[in-house]
Amino acid sequence: MKAVILEETRKISVREVPDAEMKDTTDVLLRITSTAICGTDLHFYEGRMRGIEGGVIGHEPLGVVEEVGSAVKTVKKGDRVTVPTHICCGFCAMCTEGNSSACLTTNPGAAGAAYGYPNKGGYQGAQTELLRVPLADANCLKLPGEPGDHWEDDFVLLADAFTTGYHGVAIIEIAPGDTVAIFGAGAVGLLAAYSARLRGAARVYVVDAIAERLEKAGELGAIPINFLQGDPVEQIREQQSKWRSGPAFRQEKPLGGVTCAIDCIGFQARSKTDYSREDPLWVTEAIAELINPAGRVAIIGVWPLKDPNGVEPSLKEGNLEVPWSKLFNNNVRIAMGRDDDKRWNGKLRDMIINGAAKPSQVVSHRLSLDDAPDAFEKFDRREDGYIKIILKPA
Ligand SMILES: [Zn+2]
Ligand SMILES: [Zn+2]
Repeated sequence: MKAVILEETRKISVREVPDAEMKDTTDVLLRITSTAICGTDLHFYEGRMRGIEGGVIGHEPLGVVEEVGSAVKTVKKGDRVTVPTHICCGFCAMCTEGNSSACLTTNPGAAGAAYGYPNKGGYQGAQTELLRVPLADANCLKLPGEPGDHWEDDFVLLADAFTTGYHGVAIIEIAPGDTVAIFGAGAVGLLAAYSARLRGAARVYVVDAIAERLEKAGELGAIPINFLQGDPVEQIREQQSKWRSGPAFRQEKPLGGVTCAIDCIGFQARSKTDYSREDPLWVTEAIAELINPAGRVAIIGVWPLKDPNGVEPSLKEGNLEVPWSKLFNNNVRIAMGRDDDKRWNGKLRDMIINGAAKPSQVVSHRLSLDDAPDAFEKFDRREDGYIKIILKPA
């Protein structure tokens, strides 16, 4: 089968590798019709998270079941399915509580497994033609329609991007009337903004510095904030003060920030004064500055345990400096971590089928597997409007 391989840092190739094979009676083999490139893949591509070199990259597949293990009960050959990035068992102490991204059995000795991901069980990645899906009954989400139909690019986003964006708004219970600041306008940030709108947020700000991504945020009904054109906290407070003037908001000056904020960037944030360098600390500082008393904060951008290339010694050790006292004294609630994708993917699928959600609005490029090396290069440089790329193996 043809597959996208991360050969070494900043070197992607597309080449023939041995076909994925069934290993257990609980497996299915998936013939992939669409498979997305994720911002997380860029952390591996840049060598900032290591351990999958020489293997297949990717964790966002959609396809059709080609072969079914004898113990699989609910999936049959020919079914159209997507599977969550985080491989789960469905029966362990974490899975039964809905915490599927911390499954205890699929990566023994640790909590959580994933396709094509360092330290997540060594499972083959998904940017290829064939994928072995372990524990198929727990992982396969059945989908209507046919490959290549008008849902194809929506359904592939159920593997990660849409569920993760939705996870960010759900874990802080974004509800009608909330004001939301989202940091990062990659696919996850954009889909978090979209999800906040779906849940009735009154105003959603999206902070980024790339023109095409900010434009997309505007198309999705959010207010774009370019952090290179002035301090983003001040820009948002300024916008809020205009909106919140008038009799309805008297005595509410301390509430001039936002009720909710989401970090969709993580450990490789670009400096807000010099885009050419990294400064992962400013986003948390900005959120602490901007969040209203009793506000809620979600951190869903990736933070690896250690970052040997971190720009400061504390970051190399994975110790982020957080303005804890400011957050405590404002009664701020914080939630963070990986997406329990299985908790959301069925509900979001039904919203897509019923026309209540169209996440594929964030897709910028549809390419063949052979285009992957070029796509990684351009996506990594955030150029030519590369926001979300879907590779089509067929
Ligand atoms: Zn992803
Ligand atoms: Zn489990």
